[in-house]
Amino acid sequence: MTATTTDPVLSFDEAMARFDPVLGLEVHVELNTVSKMFCGCSTVFGAPPNTQTCPVCLGLPGSMPVVNGKAVEAAIRIGLALNCSIAEWCRFARKNYFYPDMPKNFQTSQYDEPIAYDGWTEVDVDGTTYRIDIERAHMEEDTGKSLHVGGATGRIHGADHSLVDYNRAGIPLIEIVTKPVEGTGAQAPQVARAYVAHLRDLLLGLGVSDVRMEQGSLRCDVNLSLRESPSAPFGTRSETKNVNSLRSVERAVRYETGRQAARLAAGERVVQETRHWHEDTGITTPGRSKEEAEDYRYFPEPDLVPIAPDRAWVEQLKAGLPEPPRERRARLQQEWGFSDLEMRDTVGAGALGLVEETIAAGASPAAARKWWLSEMARRANEQGVELTALAVTPADVARVQALVDEGKVNDKLARQVFDGVLAGEGTPDEVVEKRGLAVVSDEGALSAAVDRAIEANPDVAQKIRDGKVAAAGALIGAVMKEMRGQADAGRVRELILEKLA
Ligand SMILES: [Zn+2]
Repeated sequence: MTATTTDPVLSFDEAMARFDPVLGLEVHVELNTVSKMFCGCSTVFGAPPNTQTCPVCLGLPGSMPVVNGKAVEAAIRIGLALNCSIAEWCRFARKNYFYPDMPKNFQTSQYDEPIAYDGWTEVDVDGTTYRIDIERAHMEEDTGKSLHVGGATGRIHGADHSLVDYNRAGIPLIEIVTKPVEGTGAQAPQVARAYVAHLRDLLLGLGVSDVRMEQGSLRCDVNLSLRESPSAPFGTRSETKNVNSLRSVERAVRYETGRQAARLAAGERVVQETRHWHEDTGITTPGRSKEEAEDYRYFPEPDLVPIAPDRAWVEQLKAGLPEPPRERRARLQQEWGFSDLEMRDTVGAGALGLVEETIAAGASPAAARKWWLSEMARRANEQGVELTALAVTPADVARVQALVDEGKVNDKLARQVFDGVLAGEGTPDEVVEKRGLAVVSDEGALSAAVDRAIEANPDVAQKIRDGKVAAAGALIGAVMKEMRGQADAGRVRELILEKLA
């Protein structure tokens, strides 16, 4: 069933003319550690349900958790990359609430003592730099996953039973929370998207997560409120949960802006609540009310020792951080000679790393960008996946370009080579071989084909003899058709002009 709503929505421009938006972004990142946060269970994605569990992550009585050192290291590195202070001493806390996918009836999280706090980072939108202040980055564990069966929407309402998979219970999570983001005006939707994209690049660079939004290893809750003017106090916010693509982050901010603006313009108030995001219709619907303060009865986790990271270790981790994303982008743009627009498109398409690897594999920057941003982007779009999920590697793209440069295939044939690679037919060279895609370089065959085209089109041939060289296009087309595209169009043109000179 498609979610619908009767909520009136003001157009984004109208909303911006009357109100000032304030953002708050909470991002959950699943770490890519081999084992879970407090036990040795595997974290591999996609395993059969409930095969990666043990007494600790099932919350059985008497089981004792042990902190995953690698997860703490990742949390500190994330904090440092976001210019945060790293706590000298901090504890885990129990966040008490009941939910069937949380077997302990509390989530082990951090409350008033996060491992990292008071940071900042910067994002660029259309040439403007926005500073995003980071409130905190804290460690916690993921919950299991509920599957509601029998209903139309996949949500619990209307379902006739639910299944629970605890494989995800206890996987290390880092929650990164911004301070209120002000001063973005009409660019709020793009700033929200740019921030999540920036975090994704930063986390990828750190190697701490595979940051796959479509698999839920990076999830974003979007807080938004409106106020009359930038100097007015904050308005009441809504929190749109689990927005799972960059595009949807932008759309969710846009939609909520229009919805809240319509309420405020009509003299109604915005209800403080969580809201569900609907990818198909691009709207949000009400979730849980937050009008009354939730009381999770947090208290320090008594089964875990406090974390007191050695200062020398923290300094060592800081010294070992990779080049920050913005500096890296600036350096690469310089090296590749891309314009601002070309660079923005490359980053926006999530192709920066792919282009970099394709160049490292031997392609020119222009060729690498061309293939990833046109041909590959189109195919990824058709399949509804990220570029990185396509079954073609940067080395494949570099090899296809080399085949073009060597004159073995032309651009049109190159596309067919990619068809074959994506269909799992092997490497570019194997596809050329198997599909017989190489350009015909046999001069005798080409010459014969040109003769046939001239013979079949005497009027065109006469025009060329009379000096109307532009007419050659029709003959080239005829030859290319006969050769099933497998000819070098430049060479065909030369032959035609030689013969009709
Ligand atoms: Zn376990």
